[in-house]
Amino acid sequence: MSILKALWPQRTAEPAPQAPAPPPAAAPDPAESPGPFRTLVESLPDPVLVIEGDPAEPAARRIRFANAAARGLFTTRLEGARLVTALRNPEVLEAVDEALHGASGSALMETGGAQERVWAAQTRPLGEGPGGRIALLTLRDETDVRRAERMRVDFLANASHELRTPLASLSGFIETLRGHAKDDEGAREKFLGIMQAQAERMARLIDDLLSLSRVELNEHIAPTGSVDLGLATTDVLDALVPLIREKALDVTTDFPPRGVSEVEGDRDQILQVIQNLVENAIKYSGPGAALRLSVSAPVADAAFALPADPAATRITLLAPDRPQGRRYALLKVVDAGPGIPRDRLPRLTERFYRVEGQKSGGERAGTGLGLAIVKHIVNRHRGGMAVESAEGRGATFTVWLPLVAPAERDPA
Ligand code: ADP
Repeated sequence: MSILKALWPQRTAEPAPQAPAPPPAAAPDPAESPGPFRTLVESLPDPVLVIEGDPAEPAARRIRFANAAARGLFTTRLEGARLVTALRNPEVLEAVDEALHGASGSALMETGGAQERVWAAQTRPLGEGPGGRIALLTLRDETDVRRAERMRVDFLANASHELRTPLASLSGFIETLRGHAKDDEGAREKFLGIMQAQAERMARLIDDLLSLSRVELNEHIAPTGSVDLGLATTDVLDALVPLIREKALDVTTDFPPRGVSEVEGDRDQILQVIQNLVENAIKYSGPGAALRLSVSAPVADAAFALPADPAATRITLLAPDRPQGRRYALLKVVDAGPGIPRDRLPRLTERFYRVEGQKSGGERAGTGLGLAIVKHIVNRHRGGMAVESAEGRGATFTVWLPLVAPAERDPA
């Protein structure tokens, strides 16, 4: 049986142009068009249309068949409709024209509405039908592929730009040191200090970029092992004592006893989450400011719904996957730094995003990658992440990670 016969086994009369329009987007009557082949095409996830007509008369082309995906995409009735009334994209019409003339064609088509989508249209000649030549038009949704490609290009452009800035500064100082500052002892010391800071910044950027790519690489693989979140936070805090002393921060902690906040996870990655959050809190705090760290467990996902500070805005940066019935350990890092304006909160985990005009420890200026890394790690651990802040009122970052199920716990 030919494809054409399978798609419309019994030829029905051509619909008269003046005939009253049937109800829009109605499903075809299965009794009228039986057959496994039609059922198969009907259930394909991509829109498929079969167009029939005389290659010399573009206005008279009609849609002979449209599968369910195609009917879902266009709001007008398709089967029996004139092609030009259903589909106005000139490139796609041209590709159909090519197919009716015997050659395959392709084009891109955008559909508007609330969600813009990009479709790759392909056309193929299907031979002669009862009412003229036949062309097959298939559409494939390319929106996600194109978005991913744009993100990749943007990421490369951003990463190169971020690296180029300290590099340009280094080159500039080298030139100066070889030129007019050649014999100036004081200038040499000063410039070498700046050069060292710039080189360290490049090293931090490269470290963060590598961390991010490693995290993304295994984000779909569930972590094995377990980590005591309270103990891990204590370890991170101990390692950051020099930075805390430098700023004379007033740190208070509240951690549960050993074993209570045991979460499923990769120790190195959990340490990185804690370190990035606590380092940020230190970096953005002024001298002598208060810094509060707490770990609590067990908590349910719903436990974090309300902001503690009614003047602050709370944003969930990452919601856990399938949270029903799960119990979590919650890490809270509360600083009394400059806070973050409300409209900037949703952008915090974007790569390279930094809130403009913020003082961040001068030479140890951030890379804008720390919170992106945190988000990807927490996502791998099926946890959640939220921020609560208001300008001038400090910031609270919370991360919650699934507790180890009681049966899996080490009895020791
Ligand atoms: P960075 O390396 O720049 O700190 P992050 O991804 O960790 O990058 O943070 C992104 C931006 O979010 C920072 O540049 C800063 O503007 C803002 N931010 C993060 N943590 C805090 C905080 N505790 N207080 C105020 N602003 C913060």
